[in-house]
Amino acid sequence: MKEENQQLIKRLDENNISAFYVKNSREAFEKVMSMIPEGSVVGFGDSLTLKQIGVLDALEKGNYTFLNPWKPGITVEENIKLKKRALTSDVFLTGTNALTLDGKIVNVDGHGNRVAAMLFGPNKVIIVAGVNKIVANLEEALKKIRDNTAPLNVKQHPEFEPMPPCGITGVCSDCSSPWRICNKTVIIEREYNNSKYKPIITVIIVGEELGI
Ligand code: SF4
Repeated sequence: MKEENQQLIKRLDENNISAFYVKNSREAFEKVMSMIPEGSVVGFGDSLTLKQIGVLDALEKGNYTFLNPWKPGITVEENIKLKKRALTSDVFLTGTNALTLDGKIVNVDGHGNRVAAMLFGPNKVIIVAGVNKIVANLEEALKKIRDNTAPLNVKQHPEFEPMPPCGITGVCSDCSSPWRICNKTVIIEREYNNSKYKPIITVIIVGEELGI
């Protein structure tokens, strides 16, 4: 494991956030699935990383109640209902936009369901991140998200009508599009760890580039 990854795990641990390093997607898949007991209600924050490591297929086929608001054919009403149910799921799975070397988890959301579930509600939150999500500090994280992650994410959604400007130009213009995905910025700095409340977040860092 690179020194940078070791440093990140140490800082996350100091912030009461458990973190593991795995070498590749296969190990990430095994680690995630080992943390989800059969029969669990599993929520999902839309994540290319989780799709890439194969977790979604396993949850669809396995003995779980998998709350996937983006399943083909789902109506807007069902989408919202599933997002709400995910807020009290047994396990909530998601990627992240960035991890800073001082142990912060940084995310920008459009609707807010993903960041809401990361903060409070589920019994367990599992965040999977490729090494490309690691940045030096908060400033770099926010810059990377606005310059890079958000425009690329918008391009993943050809159904957005009208398309936000970055989906056409590749450059953020701080838009007011009805499909603007940069509405809610959440920085997780630490977790509670005391006699009453235990941390819920685990971060799995994968030694590969994953997601956007
Ligand atoms: S603010 Fe608008 S233009 Fe800028 S990255 Fe977000 S969606 Fe794209």
